[in-house]
Parts: sequence; structure tokens; C-alpha cells
Amino acid sequence: MTFDELNIAEPILRAVREKGYTTPTPIQQQAIPVVARGRDIFGIAQTGTGKTAAFAIPLLQTLWQEKPRRATEDGNNPLPPRKDRKGRSHGKPKEQRVIRVLILTPTRELALQIDACFADYGKYTGLRHTAIFGGVKQRPQTDKLHQGIDILIATPGRLLDLIGQGEVHLDGLTHFVLDEADRMLDMGFISDIKRLLPMLPKKRQTLFFSATMPEAIVSLSRNMLTNPVRIEVTPVSSTVDTVAQSLYYVEKPEKKGLLVSVLKQETDKSVLVFSRTKHGADNISRTLQKAGIDNAAIHGNKSQGARQRALADFKSGKIKVMVATDIAARGIDIKELGLVINYDLPDVVETYVHRIGRTGRAGATGTALTFCSADDRSMLKDIQKLIGKQLHVISNPQ
Ligand code: AMP
Repeated sequence: MTFDELNIAEPILRAVREKGYTTPTPIQQQAIPVVARGRDIFGIAQTGTGKTAAFAIPLLQTLWQEKPRRATEDGNNPLPPRKDRKGRSHGKPKEQRVIRVLILTPTRELALQIDACFADYGKYTGLRHTAIFGGVKQRPQTDKLHQGIDILIATPGRLLDLIGQGEVHLDGLTHFVLDEADRMLDMGFISDIKRLLPMLPKKRQTLFFSATMPEAIVSLSRNMLTNPVRIEVTPVSSTVDTVAQSLYYVEKPEKKGLLVSVLKQETDKSVLVFSRTKHGADNISRTLQKAGIDNAAIHGNKSQGARQRALADFKSGKIKVMVATDIAARGIDIKELGLVINYDLPDVVETYVHRIGRTGRAGATGTALTFCSADDRSMLKDIQKLIGKQLHVISNPQ
């Protein structure tokens, strides 16, 4: 299938072609026609599958086909007159478009990535979009909002702040996207989402995306969706052939010592160490620091600033070792990742494939090491069944 067969409006198709995309990814093939018809979606997909374009393209198309809506025409509350630092009014905002699409996403990095996608695919539509997120001054963001916005990409905290200040009005909203719902839950945003939901118009299209579907996520989605179409991007079942996959049988008390000795031999590679829990990630990180191995830990309890810094240091090679939980590691796209260590086995079999797929990208050879204790044996069996091969066992050097 090609993009031409998806009936995408010409200005958007032209922009997609300019990006060099020819074939829609599986989630795009499934989601674009469904979203364009106005249906709700319950989507199970990770970042990296082309998910952003899967919702951005049809939403841009829907908005482009309607004429721009202005606040006064709709009888919605106009934005307050613009004020300077001393609180003096400066007349009416220039153009009062109505926010028709809201995309809620957990992190600033994701908000910026999504905003960049709307800039790319929407560049010939004349539609306006912006991203708002915390940790930075709000004035440049409110200035942008005052210019009139059709599509708003937001993290929960800043959105609620600006709604509270009367800077954001959602009464004209027709489409709502909740992105990375499981990560929202992990980062403690669930109460913010529950506060926000009653502020959205009941009659709207809702697109709900999550990489995993724990019970809490499924029940949240039930309150938000109307007769949704379920779209699931098939879980990976084959591991990248360029990744050498090895295994240490090691009991829990010896895992830390083994990790330190492995990392002391692999000083030139960028290494991603996976921990099952946030607490475990901090614990591993401290042990490594004590052993003189510079590292950073990222997980949902870390502040946005701390995560950004850790990621930047890891990407630039300043820090060679990153300890992460599965959810926090998602979206990390590092080309030179040489080694993935499964310090803990994941809870879900497919996650193993996602983890090791982070090394050995684009033809490079990568290595994945798995630490397996007695408790992990049955998960290991399931993983080997899924990938259809046995991991190469290395004897513990300790
Ligand atoms: P996402 O899952 O939205 O984060 O997208 C992952 C990456 O795939 C991004 O870098 C996109 O630019 C890229 N991408 C999205 N759709 C396509 C496509 N149809 N063909 C090639 N690359 C794509």
C-alpha cells in the first residue's frame, strides 16, 4: 500500500512525500481511514511505529476540510485581551481561532516531537499548532496562544495551569488525543487527566494510545471512548539478527557484582541497563557510582529536567551507562547503543524484543546480555520460545 491509496488531501500528501515517506506503516494503514471517518480509537502501539503520523495526518485533513473556526463565530468565550507585564491591556488578540484538536502527552520531549510532526505534515494547510509544557516560562507560550491556534499539544500540568488562568479555552474542541496513556499513569498524571476530562466537550472524537494495557488503563479508556475501533500493532516476534544475545545464570545477590565487572570491561560502549522497578534503577545506579562507574538513572519519578539532562548526556556520550525502566526508556533513540543489559527480565515477553532492538540498529552489530536468576527461569523459557532460539550461556566470571 502507498500513501496515495489512503485518500489523503493533496496539501498533506505533498508534505508527506517531501518527508520521503512512500509506504504507510501498519498503524498508519489501519488508523488513517478510521480517524478520517471520525471514529474513536483504542490504539495499542509504541513510539517508533509511526503512531504520531497515524493521528496527525487524518486530523490535519479533517481540520483542513472544515473552514477555520473563529471564537466569536462560535459564540465561545473569546480569549482575554492581551496584557503586558504590568497588567495593562493591549486590545483584542489578533485572530481568535478555536482550539479544535488537543493532544495530551506525558513529556516535553514528546510534545516537541509531536509539534514538529504537525509542522512537517501540516505545512501547506495553513493550520496553526503549538506545544505547551512545564519547566519553562509561560509567556512565550501564551503569546503563541494569543495568535490563534487550531491544534494544541500539551503536557498535563501546564495545560491545567493555563486553563485555570483563562489562557486556554477548550469549549470548541472536537478532537482529543491521549498519547502514551500508560506512561501518563507511570508518571502520576492520572489525577490531572481525571480533572481535565470534565472540561472537554462531551461530543468529540477521542483517540487513545498506550503501549501496554494494564487494567487501570483499560478502565480509564472506558470512561473516555465511544464505540472505539481497536487497533493493535502486532507484537514483534523475531529478534534482530545483528544482535548477539547472551545469558548469565546469576543469583540475585551476585547481580550487582557481575554488572560492575561487565561494565568495567565495556568502557567504550554506550550501555543501557534495564531494571524492572524505579526503586531498583536507583539502587543499581548508586552501586555503579560507588564502584566508580559514571551513570544516570531515568524513570517516571525523575523530574522532566533530570530526565532531559540524563538523556542529553547519554546521547552525547558524556555518560556511557544509563539505567532505565522500560517505560522511561521508550522513545530513547540512540544510534550508537552498543550493549543492552537485562539486569532484570521484563514482566512481558515481547518487551525483551523491544529492549534488545535498541542495539544493533541500522546494520550495526550489537550485544544483549541477560542476567537470569532462579525466579526468572520461566520468563526466560517464554522469551526463548517467542524468539525461537536459545540464548548463548556465558559462565559467570565471579
Ligand atoms: P513515531 O512512532 O510517531 O514516533 O515515529 C517514528 C519515526 O518514524 C519518526 O522518526 C517518523 O518520522 C518516522 N515515520 C513515520 N511514518 C513513516 C513512514 N510512513 N515512512 C517512514 N518513516 C516514517
